[in-house]
Amino acid sequence: MRTVEHFIGGEATGGGGSRSHDIWDPNNGEVQARVALGTADDLEGAVQKARAAQPEWAATNPQRRARVMFKYKQLVEDHMDELAELLSSEHGKVVADARGDVQRGLEVIEFACGIPHALKGEYTQGAGPGIDVYSMRQPLGIVAGITPFNFPAMIPMWMFGVEIACGNAFILKPSERDPSVPVRLAELMKEAGLPDGILQVVHGDKEMVDAILDHEEIKAVSFVGSSEIAHYVYRRGVAAGKRVQAMGGAKNHGIVMPDADLDQVVSDLAGAAFGSAGERCMALPVVVPVGEETADRLRDKMVPAINALRVGISTDEDAHYGPVVTPEHKQRVEGWIQKGVDEGAELVVDGRGFSLQGHEKGFFIGPSLFDRVTPDMESYKEEIFGPVLQMVRADSFDEAVALPSKHQYGNGVAIFTRNGHAAREFAQRVNVGMVGINVPIPVPVAYHTFGGWKRSGFGDSDQHGMEGVRFWTKLKKVTQRWPDGFAEADNKDAFVIPTMG
Ligand code: NAD
Repeated sequence: MRTVEHFIGGEATGGGGSRSHDIWDPNNGEVQARVALGTADDLEGAVQKARAAQPEWAATNPQRRARVMFKYKQLVEDHMDELAELLSSEHGKVVADARGDVQRGLEVIEFACGIPHALKGEYTQGAGPGIDVYSMRQPLGIVAGITPFNFPAMIPMWMFGVEIACGNAFILKPSERDPSVPVRLAELMKEAGLPDGILQVVHGDKEMVDAILDHEEIKAVSFVGSSEIAHYVYRRGVAAGKRVQAMGGAKNHGIVMPDADLDQVVSDLAGAAFGSAGERCMALPVVVPVGEETADRLRDKMVPAINALRVGISTDEDAHYGPVVTPEHKQRVEGWIQKGVDEGAELVVDGRGFSLQGHEKGFFIGPSLFDRVTPDMESYKEEIFGPVLQMVRADSFDEAVALPSKHQYGNGVAIFTRNGHAAREFAQRVNVGMVGINVPIPVPVAYHTFGGWKRSGFGDSDQHGMEGVRFWTKLKKVTQRWPDGFAEADNKDAFVIPTMG
């Protein structure tokens, strides 16, 4: 059976650990490969390689670093089919969606191609008599990223695209559920000319994550995953003196105003709630129609649209979505559906018990729709991360704004309306990090930044764009004076705090 190995110092290695983790084929319910689970010693090996390579990489001028990114972009495009198929085979998302996963990551690489401009500091000439002040952004050194299963290409590239371009050495710990694409992405970086030791991949679970968080030489950690682990990573990393950003789970709401174009909303909702089997942190698993009449009309249109969805294997070009990632996850999602029923929500469409002919062991779940979900229900409060749409009816605009604002998560939210004033008020008032106005999945483009609020994001910085540049660098401030001769020996002014007055 195929084993996915670490990528350390530019080479594949099994490492010294004795444990491994199964990688499923979600279409057929069989184990297709294993991944080596690393230890603190494996991490140490990667840190040594990073330590040896990073100073020279940092000293390479930013334009040359950017050239590696240009080459990398081309290489990833050339390997798009291979990457998308590999990604789809371990994750279960349909191939077209897997291409989108790679493409959204590539857009961060495109941003990183402009790193010389992004790294320019600020300069003030003549801040005082003969005094100039300037700032420069310097890399942190050795840094790390810990990523989730649901975007195995995009999220690593969110991080290492900017991070490497800034002159750091990056150690990636991808999800153990679909680790093959992250390794291929690192191999392609080597092919693009990146020196060995600057982008490395170590596999593992909590043991490896803890080793990363505790390692003195790792100066910053970016984490994306579920909120409980994000909070843990944030606390432990900060306690160890690191710079940490930790993105967590989500429960994004879509507010539907009475004036919205409901046909458009139904089409947007179907994709945003059920695409990738709901395994997206920017999915829209909660819909909030404003007013009973809007709710009834929406429900009438939503049910046939849901029944028309095609669930298929991830290589089925006509499938809207594929299986979920593991048998445990399928069980968990179905458990939440049962919980919703037990809590008294109305299960309008039940996706449980779905079986795909010829793939009976695959981890498929049909689409589900709940109506009359209320904010006190556990199944509303928690993230389900599956193909389940919950309808929460609101009586008024104010009630609709309050729902996502008061929810424990604050990743994304969307409003569907033709009323510019309502949209503007909503964007201003809602207590959520990313807002869509008639845009169901408001993931900002690569040169802006990505990040949620509340339990969706611990730490105060976002991913990629200029926020990424700031996160992966430290700012040095230089005040300089080049006097024409020497100061007098007993200059009393030297004892007074200097001012520019
Ligand atoms: P997860 O939290 O299970 O795993 C994320 C990472 O943490 C993996 O690399 C995993 O190996 C590691 N990990 C798992 N258990 C750990 C433990 N006990 N201690 C230390 N590390 C541990 O998340 P997942 O299931 O892979 O991904 C789905 C979650 O990620 C969802 O909650 C989703 O909303 C969230 N997500 C958030 C964003 C965002 O930007 N906010 C983006 C994508 C996914």
